[in-house]
Amino acid sequence: MTYDIIIIGAGPAGITAGIYAVRREMKTLIIGKEVGGQLTLASEIENYPGFRSIDSFDFILKLQEHVKDLGAEIKTAEVKKITKEKDGTFTLYTQKEEFKAKTVIIAMGLVPRRLEIPGEKEFNAKGVSYCVNCDGPFFRDKVVAVVGGGNSAVDAAEVMSKIAKKVYLIHRREEFRAFDALVNEAKSRKNVEFLLNSQVKEIIGKEKLEKVKILNTKTGKEKELELGGLFIEVGRIAHTDLVEDLVERDERDQIIVDEDGKTKTSGLFACGDVTPVKYKQITIAMGQATIATLSAYQYLLFKQGKGEEVIRDRSAPKAAKK
Ligand code: NAP
Repeated sequence: MTYDIIIIGAGPAGITAGIYAVRREMKTLIIGKEVGGQLTLASEIENYPGFRSIDSFDFILKLQEHVKDLGAEIKTAEVKKITKEKDGTFTLYTQKEEFKAKTVIIAMGLVPRRLEIPGEKEFNAKGVSYCVNCDGPFFRDKVVAVVGGGNSAVDAAEVMSKIAKKVYLIHRREEFRAFDALVNEAKSRKNVEFLLNSQVKEIIGKEKLEKVKILNTKTGKEKELELGGLFIEVGRIAHTDLVEDLVERDERDQIIVDEDGKTKTSGLFACGDVTPVKYKQITIAMGQATIATLSAYQYLLFKQGKGEEVIRDRSAPKAAKK
């Protein structure tokens, strides 16, 4: 069977693409490693219009229910490779299966960046975590640290301040990337201490994490900090090697698309955080997914000889004749 569209990624972008695709009566499959994508790393969402505050798990359930009710199929798997065939269709390979599609949308988001320091791999899941929402409750009443200076790190510190005894927020600079409101909220917590101009150099322990070595880049002094847990929230990166021959990528391996969500391969689209969009926000990912899906639909119509392919004129507008 050949699907009209396969969407890779089941986060907000992937689910939105699914909703738009089935409503255009496209035979739709969504393949994702985990329904919710990066939403599974979030806790409370407070910037999605219409919901003053919603638990991310409840939000994921709502998204899933919506797209499934409309008739999209969702498969939990990881797509390892994609090829474009001579007849213009795509073949997608997971560990065990192969799927065929007329169009593909890549909405696979980003994955947590690692610090790449000694002890990080060794103590992963032994005190070191990349997901406060998943692992936070295991660190009740402990002394923990969060590394990073973006929204994710400051959010994580705020969440952990309600669970742990004490939270260190370790950031390598003095200025934060995070929104001021979030930083101020974290600062107002009595059990949150900011360690600025500080880099974690090593994670030390026996069976599990016991302490970290920290370098103060201003004073050049090193110190050890005893910890029960360490949350690493230093941004997210794109893992897009599966389509390296089919798309153009930027220096951060994000997939370059035009304003219609098109990649350099016709029939292959991308949207959401996996593209170079500056602001990685749920609402933006969903908007991009809407555009990419409607473009994919237009592409299918064009292939069936029913519509026009939209080719934008990118030349600068000509001055009006006098
Ligand atoms: P981010 O904004 O890219 O911030 C990453 C942080 O990690 C930066 O402060 C960076 O330091 C630090 N960092 C990077 N590499 C490091 C290293 N090797 N060692 C130490 N520190 C390192 O990433 P994010 O916080 O995960 O956020 C990702 C996107 O999701 C952003 O667009 C963010 O706005 C969005 N987001 C939004 C919300 C919300 O709206 N409430 C919540 C979470 C995430 P420097 O500052 O020195 O570069």
